[in-house]
Amino acid sequence: MIIKDCKMPLKINMLESLMRRLPPGHERQPAINEDIKKIRAGYKGEYRVFNLLKALPQKGYLLFHDLRLSGSPFPFQMDILILTPFFLLIVEVKNIAGEMFFDNTFNQLIRINPDGTTEAFDDPILQVSMQRKHLLDWLKTRKINNLPVETLVVSANSSTIIRAANKEISGKVIRKDRILQQIAELNNKHTEEILSRRAIKRLSNVWLDGHTAFIPKPLETYGIPSSALQTGVFCQKCQAYSMERHGKWICRTCLDTSHDAHISALLDYVYLVKPSITNSELRNFLQLHSPSSAKNLLTSLKLKHSGHTKGRVYLLHSLIES
Ligand SMILES: [Zn+2]
Repeated sequence: MIIKDCKMPLKINMLESLMRRLPPGHERQPAINEDIKKIRAGYKGEYRVFNLLKALPQKGYLLFHDLRLSGSPFPFQMDILILTPFFLLIVEVKNIAGEMFFDNTFNQLIRINPDGTTEAFDDPILQVSMQRKHLLDWLKTRKINNLPVETLVVSANSSTIIRAANKEISGKVIRKDRILQQIAELNNKHTEEILSRRAIKRLSNVWLDGHTAFIPKPLETYGIPSSALQTGVFCQKCQAYSMERHGKWICRTCLDTSHDAHISALLDYVYLVKPSITNSELRNFLQLHSPSSAKNLLTSLKLKHSGHTKGRVYLLHSLIES
């Protein structure tokens, strides 16, 4: 049963919005583009593996994607977590094309590209064993002491060649198509029921409530001041910030019109600047001159707000959730 479904990470939207808001040719754009590609590939891999897990019986297997729980000293995050009455399984997904070489001497994963170039990654076996340690600590503080926690690194790309310096990894790293078989083996290994149906429900609720999404700060990450962002409302046709407000949005270049072009502008604001906005900040960011049309826009969005008149602050969270 899916408890927390596989959803595209917010970070992708944020970085795409940053790409659009940077002036063309900005020096940080190539690095941001590279990161978008990596995060997309990672998500694609998790999505593929999560889909395979949907074949598990509805009863007895609770699936969580991208669960992030509080830990000491920092929160810890797991790609996929499977909760059963008999054991827990943490799955770390890797979607790396080409050849993967596990170097357990230096705890690194090396990707060998077809042209012979290499790239190093953090060792996913070590990553998932750290997550296991954090999860065991988490369970211990809640007096759940005897639930076994298993781990797996899953390669989500069918064409990847997996190599290792040491044979030991074969039980720790598998190809995605083996995952159901591996879970069946864990079922045979763990036959003692540790959690009652009630305890499972309780644990699942605690995790959902305790999940704290990681909110990236793209401008900080790439060292970009907010003054570098282009302001205005985007015209999809011209791919430029050329929309003006005359009752509706009209592009001053191509005369294309839109009723809701301000929504994506406000999303950019939440993703890149901050989660709340005042009337004057909105006018600055959207390049809107009239305070009354700014007020009309804000009112039409039915946002939660605090304060009165000039100092009124509107909360933009609901735009992300909808
Ligand atoms: Zn236009």
